[in-house]
Amino acid sequence: MVSQTAAQTLNPRTVHRDFFGATGATAVMVGTVSVVFVWYFSCNEIAGCQLPLASTQWASIIQQALNYNSYVSSTALLYYSLWWLWLALLYFVVPAKVIDGVVLRNGQRLQYRLNGLSSLLVTLSVWISVWFIWGAQPYLWIADHYFELAISSIIFATTQALFVYLYSFRPAPKSQPVMLALAGNSGNPIYDFFIGRELNPRVGPLDLKYFCELRPGIMGWMLLNISFALKQHHRFGHVSNSMWLAILPQLVYCVDTLLFEQNVLTTMDIVTDGFGWMLSFGDLSWVPAMYSLQARYLAFHPVYHSSLATWSIALLATGSFLVFRLSNSQKNAFRTNPNDPAVSHLRFITTESGSKLLVSGWWGMARHINYTGDWFFGLAQCLAAGFDTPMVFFFSAYFFVLLLHRNHRDECKCREKYKKDWVRYCQLVPYMFIPYVI
Ligand code: NDP
Repeated sequence: MVSQTAAQTLNPRTVHRDFFGATGATAVMVGTVSVVFVWYFSCNEIAGCQLPLASTQWASIIQQALNYNSYVSSTALLYYSLWWLWLALLYFVVPAKVIDGVVLRNGQRLQYRLNGLSSLLVTLSVWISVWFIWGAQPYLWIADHYFELAISSIIFATTQALFVYLYSFRPAPKSQPVMLALAGNSGNPIYDFFIGRELNPRVGPLDLKYFCELRPGIMGWMLLNISFALKQHHRFGHVSNSMWLAILPQLVYCVDTLLFEQNVLTTMDIVTDGFGWMLSFGDLSWVPAMYSLQARYLAFHPVYHSSLATWSIALLATGSFLVFRLSNSQKNAFRTNPNDPAVSHLRFITTESGSKLLVSGWWGMARHINYTGDWFFGLAQCLAAGFDTPMVFFFSAYFFVLLLHRNHRDECKCREKYKKDWVRYCQLVPYMFIPYVI
C-alpha cells in the first residue's frame, strides 16, 4: 500500500494531453510517415519533383506506391540494424567523458557518456577506409536504396517505441519505481506509446533516448548527404555548387551538434519528454530521411548558381549559423560560470528561483534569437536547392512550425517557473525572434 502510494506520488496520472490526445497522436503518426512516402514518390529521378496539387499527380503517386515492391527489404533492414548496433558499440567502447545529467524529480542524477564526436571520428575513418577499398560503390548503393533504408528506419523506430512502451511496465523495486514522463502516464496506450511513457528508458547502461537523440539519425543524415553528393558526381561527372552549398552547412551543423553534445542534456527532449514513438521516429527516421531532401533532389537535378547567388547563400548560411552558435554558447557560458570574462560584462536579472536571466548581449536582442539563427540557416540550405520546385522548401516550412511550437512550450514553461520575474524579463526583452520586428 505504502509503495503503491510512492509510485503514484512519483508518477501522477497525466490529465492534460497534448496533440488532442490519442486521435491527434494517431494523426501525427500516420501524417508524418505519409509525408516521408509522399515526398519520395513525388520527388525522385523518375517522377521529377513537383508539389502534388493536381489529382493526376496523386494518381501517379498512388500508382507508384502500388507498383513499388520492396517495402520491406531484409538487406536494408539488416544494414540499418547493423548501423544502430555499430553506434551502440561505439557508445561503450570509445573513451568518454562521463557526466551527470540534471537532477530528476526523484532527486537522482543519471550519468551520461559523452563520446559522440569521437564516435563520429571512428565512423569517419571507417567511411574513408570503405572508400579506399571499394570506392564509391557502397555509397551509391545507399543513395539508390534511400527509400528502403528510410522504411527500415521507420520499422526499427516503431519496434523500438513498442519495446520501450512495454518495457516501462517492468517490475521494479518498490522503493524505486520506474520513473515515467509527467506527460506520458495518461493510461491511454496509443497516446502513451506515442508521447513516451518512461522518462529515461535504459537497457543496462544504454540510455536509449540519449543514444538515439544524436547518433544514428544525425550521423545517418551525414552519410546520406555524402552518398547523394557522390551519386551526383557519378551521374553528372561533377558536384554542383548547389550541392556543396546544401551539404557543407548541414555537415557543419551535425559536427557542431556532436561537439556540443553536452548541451542536449538540458533540452526539453531529455529533461521533460518521455521516450516514445514521437522521439524514436523523429530521431531515427525523420531527421535523416527528410533533412537530406535537398541533397537527394540535387543528386538527380543539379542546380547551378551564379557567383552572386552562391556568395549570397553562403553569407546567409554563415551569418545565421554564427547567430545560432554564438547565442547558444553565450547562454551556456553564462549559465556555467557567470564570472567568465567572456560573459561577465553582460547584464542580467536575478529571479526569485535563484536563476539568472540575461538581458543584454544576444539574449537582450530577442528571447529566442537562437531559433532565428537556426531557421535562417535552414532557409539557406533550401535556397541552395533553387527555385525549380517548392518541395525542397519543405524543411523551412516544417522547421518554422516546429520552432513556433517549441517557443510556445518554452514560454509557457518559463512563465510558470519565473512568474512575475518572467513578466519583468519580457518587458526588458520585448522581442521574441527578431529585434524591432517580432
Ligand atoms: P533554448 O536553448 O533556447 O533554451 C531555453 C531555456 O533557456 C529556457 O527554458 C530557460 O531555461 C533558458 N533561458 C531563456 N532565456 C534565458 C536568458 N535570457 N538567460 C539565460 N537563460 C535563459 O531552447 P532549446 O533547448 O529548445 O533549443 C536549443 C537549440 O537547439 C536552439 O538553437 C534550437 O534552434 C535548436 N533546435 C534544433 C532542432 C532541429 O531539429 N534542428 C530541434 C530543436 C531545437 P531555464 O529554466 O534554465 O531558465
